[in-house]
Amino acid sequence: SYAEHFLLPFIEAMRQLGIGAEVIRADQLYKQGAFTEVIITALEHRDHIAAILHEETGKAVEPTWSPFQPLCQACGRYTQTRVTGFSATAKTVSYRCACGGEGEAPMAGGGKLTWRVDWPARWKILGVTVEPFGKDHASKGGSYDTGKRIAREVFGIEPPYPIVYEWISLQGQGDMSSSKGNVISINAMLEVVPPEVLRYFILRTAPQKSITFDPGLPLLRLIDEYDDLESQERNARAIELSVIQGIEPVGVPYRHMVTLVQIAQGDFSRLLTLLQRSGYPVTNEAAIRKRAEYARRWLERFAPEEMKFAVQAELPPAVQELTPEQRQFLHRLGERLRPGMSGDEIHRLIYEIKDELQLKPAQAFQAIYVALLGKTRGPRAGWFLSTLDFAFLRQRLAEAGTDGEGG
Ligand SMILES: [Zn+2]
Repeated sequence: SYAEHFLLPFIEAMRQLGIGAEVIRADQLYKQGAFTEVIITALEHRDHIAAILHEETGKAVEPTWSPFQPLCQACGRYTQTRVTGFSATAKTVSYRCACGGEGEAPMAGGGKLTWRVDWPARWKILGVTVEPFGKDHASKGGSYDTGKRIAREVFGIEPPYPIVYEWISLQGQGDMSSSKGNVISINAMLEVVPPEVLRYFILRTAPQKSITFDPGLPLLRLIDEYDDLESQERNARAIELSVIQGIEPVGVPYRHMVTLVQIAQGDFSRLLTLLQRSGYPVTNEAAIRKRAEYARRWLERFAPEEMKFAVQAELPPAVQELTPEQRQFLHRLGERLRPGMSGDEIHRLIYEIKDELQLKPAQAFQAIYVALLGKTRGPRAGWFLSTLDFAFLRQRLAEAGTDGEGG
């Protein structure tokens, strides 16, 4: 059914998010007769409820309005039926439908309360003490205002404590809403945001503040904030609340992971070596593997071009467009690199050679990126070169460079 189609993926997402909710389905409560007593109360106090709706919303209530909407047994619709009477002893509601159908609908499963009455009815049946809801229900004269009064004046209960939350919007596309078609389902979000980070994303913001979901660079910064134990941005309390049993922070900045995943090109043991060589102890391989998968999916779907790179197997043609000085720089770099040099040592060597040739730093770095990646930007150069296979690197620099005597 329609409900199952949306409900089941949602319940699965809650499980992944470590939300141990017990799901109670209203349609089943109706069928089981859990609503019957409140339905009778609502029908008996129809005029009082109509007066509350009128006073709170400022809109007149139709004389034919009823808090209960019977389901027409002839045409299967709720919307065209009119209540003509009810029996508290037989627990039925009699109706007439626009389709010509008429009959007695059982209160248990034969219809439902209208939304504004259904909501406070649930508070009574389930003993609700705290109710989070979207800001649309919180507007003046909205369903919380009417529900509050119906709860007190008709059902004789205290309304639950309200927690109003704002919308989550999608960067550049406004509030997510199904009518605007700009919705990313929670399940689609979970494909690029690890569940504990998604919890953090929501929890670090007060409920009354709107949240913008931006799957580009801001998503990278968000995961970074969660993973990077050194980050100054981290909200410690939100981190504490975000932890899902069995999932620990990876301890590697996500941006770094995104770079390493592209260097390792799918080779997990190489990724682990690269992590260790860049100063991150590999304590939790399973967590690193998961994070690497998120990084790959993010690169595929949302990463801006500037974050993507691939070491080119062949000499990129763009090398031809480098200046003679830039190509001479590459040649000298290839000559003077030694196996096992650290990122810092290579960094100093780059500066030494660019000074000899009176190149600007940008020209030197651009030459390196063009020769290896075929583009003008890339990861921190000294460190990046230290991660590459030495024989490959020297070969490439020799091919891309010229010795300055005209090639
Ligand atoms: Zn009908």
